[in-house]
Amino acid sequence: MRLDLPISLVAEYVFCPRAAWLSYVAGQFQPNEFTVEGALLHLRVHRPSSSQGKPRRFRKLPVWSERYGIYGYADLVEDHGTTLIPVEYKRGKAKVSQSDRVHVALIALCLEEMLRISIPSGFLFYFGSRRRVEVPLTADLRRAAVRAICEARDLFSQTTPPSAFPTSRCYGCALRPSCLAQSLSFGWEEWTQ
Ligand code: SF4
Repeated sequence: MRLDLPISLVAEYVFCPRAAWLSYVAGQFQPNEFTVEGALLHLRVHRPSSSQGKPRRFRKLPVWSERYGIYGYADLVEDHGTTLIPVEYKRGKAKVSQSDRVHVALIALCLEEMLRISIPSGFLFYFGSRRRVEVPLTADLRRAAVRAICEARDLFSQTTPPSAFPTSRCYGCALRPSCLAQSLSFGWEEWTQ
């Protein structure tokens, strides 16, 4: 039977396959100051809005795709009449990582399938820089999003995690303590810089 995946987990897979495996398969997620800050900021985004103006806004909208076997919530979807625009909110300053782009693309794939519409682009809003960055939903990005779903599904059927590759993304990773404990082949200095 196919394993349906949370959209946020597929985006995490793109951020780091090992982090996705450790949190989903091994259940080792531990919140840190960054994840708590992100959760608090999202509470604000998801708060019902009293605005009746245009565009109409839908917050924390449930989305899913039967075709791809993914589900989750869109932070914000704006109805511009001729099209919908998904907006995902992220902690920190605008950096537009591939995992953030894929996150928007996965939301758009769900909306397109649910509503039988076409969505040409979405946006990322970064709290740290308080600005929106457009994410064109190109064929390449769509392919990358679908590939990530398939790869993540394969990975989660495996009983051992992928190897760790310490990079700057590890700074702030909530899984760093458990990842570190299991990666004795890496020098401590590499992880603490
Ligand atoms: S510490 Fe780095 S390698 Fe380990 S799970 Fe986090 S991001 Fe991945």
